[in-house]
Amino acid sequence: MNKIQAIRGMNDILPTETPVWQYLEATVQQLVQSYGYREIRFPVLEQTQLFKRSIGEVTDIVEKEMYSFDDRNGDNLSLRPEGTACCVRAADEHGLLYNQQQRLWYRGPMFRYERPQKGRYRQFHQIGIEAFGMAGPDIDVEIILLTARLWQALGLAPQVRLEINNIGTSADRKRYGDALIAFLRQHEEALDGDSRRRLDSNPLRILDSKVPTTQEILRDAPTLADYVSEETVAHFDAITGMLDAAGVAYEVNPRLVRGLDYYNNMVFEWITGSLGAQGTVCAGGRYDGLVEQLGGRSTPGVGCAMGVERLVLMLQEGGLVPGQSLQALDLFVAVGDGLMGQALVLAEQLRAQLPGLRVQCHCGGGKLSNQMKKAFNSGAPYALVLEADAAGVLAEVKLRQLGEEAGTEVLPLAELGARLQALFPNA
Ligand code: ATP
Ligand code: MG
Repeated sequence: MNKIQAIRGMNDILPTETPVWQYLEATVQQLVQSYGYREIRFPVLEQTQLFKRSIGEVTDIVEKEMYSFDDRNGDNLSLRPEGTACCVRAADEHGLLYNQQQRLWYRGPMFRYERPQKGRYRQFHQIGIEAFGMAGPDIDVEIILLTARLWQALGLAPQVRLEINNIGTSADRKRYGDALIAFLRQHEEALDGDSRRRLDSNPLRILDSKVPTTQEILRDAPTLADYVSEETVAHFDAITGMLDAAGVAYEVNPRLVRGLDYYNNMVFEWITGSLGAQGTVCAGGRYDGLVEQLGGRSTPGVGCAMGVERLVLMLQEGGLVPGQSLQALDLFVAVGDGLMGQALVLAEQLRAQLPGLRVQCHCGGGKLSNQMKKAFNSGAPYALVLEADAAGVLAEVKLRQLGEEAGTEVLPLAELGARLQALFPNA
């Protein structure tokens, strides 16, 4: 019979890899909490309309990347392709937004029907942070500082750079879009097919085109910077001023527009050169109109989302995961003949005494020499060897170091707990 395989672009994350994920997630969790952000969780499925109204009907995500279907009741639902719209939906539905300030974060799988390749999958994971109810540039800067601190904490800072841009208000972008269309119409024949199609639907997305001939034409196109209104320029200048004061390096990229319609004013991306074409590891910006667009009362918002797979790849390729977070066990217990029951009880006592100690009892019996092979392969730094004496009693235990300087201590049972406590002070 054929074996059933995973869906293309949807990855299993195996036990050899989960420690990297756990390390990343724990680091992020500690960091966002240190800024007072609180976690919110929302469903993986939402009404399709939520994404159409927020991300925009004529975006790549909504036009061709969503997993949408009618459920048994005939409601059109979609697997969430991103978290911001869901976060706004959930926060507003539960009254967290009106007249309040909120700092929230979320994590979890997102789904987009894209062409799978390194760093780009159909189920992928994001960690996002969102701040509501603050209109000033200070919160924008806080979010950028938070992400910068995260790269520091993970050792990724030397590999990422920050690009930011002011994309103005939606009215600014409309005026600019008209000017861009007028310019591009003169070169319509030379544009690639996608870009020609976008002339009518979403002209700003053409700026994002990777097609070289289109890029060539765009060089002489009008720039958005000449169309953004003064108030957004003041907001943006305040941001760059604070980033300068904080010593965060950035580059203003006038072509940075983002693929989601809800952004306005400041947008940013953290980009790496070490992942090929999938270079953006974190992207975000301000979305002051989104809450209202989804039916809530006007509430300013700003946030960003990072791609967990891309960060995991960078950590793995850079050898940046601390060794102890890759290690699954502290102590492997090899169990001599007739001691199975006692071994399990002893392991229980150790776990009660040292709740952080990771102890695994060998199960299934067999020769001690074979069990010791398993102990070496387990990655644990220590093995405990339980052997009964001639009278069939377990009086002493051997604590064997499994690393390169392998040594063995013989301990009375009663001293074992204290000895392990000394060896694993954090357990
Ligand atoms: P890209 O330009 O790489 O397609 P995007 O603009 O579509 O990214 P966002 O919607 O802003 O991305 O999502 C934020 C982050 O989530 C991205 O910067 C990236 O790190 C990650 N991401 C987006 N799509 C994928 C995917 N298909 N697979 C893995 N990570 C992804
Ligand atoms: Mg994309």
